[in-house]
Amino acid sequence: MRTPLIAGNWKMNMTVSEAGAFADELLNNKLNQGVEAAVCAPFIDLPVLIEKFKDTDIKVGAQNVYYEQSGAFTGEISAPMLKELGVHYVIAGHSERRELFGESDSDINKKAHAVIEAGMVPIICVGETEAERDNGEHTEKVANQVKAALQGVKAEAAGDLVIAYEPIWAIGTGKSATSDDANAMCKSIRTKVEKLYDKGVADSVRILYGGSVKPATVEELMSKSDVDGALVGGAALKTDDYTALVAGA
Ligand code: PEP
Repeated sequence: MRTPLIAGNWKMNMTVSEAGAFADELLNNKLNQGVEAAVCAPFIDLPVLIEKFKDTDIKVGAQNVYYEQSGAFTGEISAPMLKELGVHYVIAGHSERRELFGESDSDINKKAHAVIEAGMVPIICVGETEAERDNGEHTEKVANQVKAALQGVKAEAAGDLVIAYEPIWAIGTGKSATSDDANAMCKSIRTKVEKLYDKGVADSVRILYGGSVKPATVEELMSKSDVDGALVGGAALKTDDYTALVAGA
């Protein structure tokens, strides 16, 4: 049984005081206990969220990491640094990082390894452009991204991973994949994971959909066999919407 996961991705939003206020408000809301809730926040917000959520099941995630352990990498944050803080999830390979910051499949693979070695769980993002979907290249593109990200990751760790299918054309655009298309891609990712490992790993890996998910659409999405949750940007910035997303999952 895969526990559903609703992971918020705040992107570059929320000052420390705003993050603290969000946490206080969320703690006043009753979250659906059958669903795992996670908030992936800017680095500076992580300590306040970890402190506020310490007696709850709400997990805190980072949105990025550098794959080296320490050293002369000005401006970067390592996996051991995040682990010591109490971070649970780390997003690796969000399309904004791939597109705006030039992250390659190889960087994302190194990040996944660093996160796993530090004892955290990567949320590995994959997804196609609109042109790739129009040309019918989306399934192969995503399968190749999955294979590259998981290169060298052992089966023992792979089953605990989270993979987020996020079609680039659906992120922050208000244009979501249909629940059937999202499910078809999540199923195809699971098949790829089975080919790379075995059925046990494929059955336990959690595969999320991301791309303009809203409280009104989450229930339909979650009714699909291979969608185990959602990675949510815009709709995760307000506590009431976030609570509704967790309730609908
Ligand atoms: C995201 O940032 O991963 C995302 C899916 O954003 P949005 O929900 O705003 O499309």
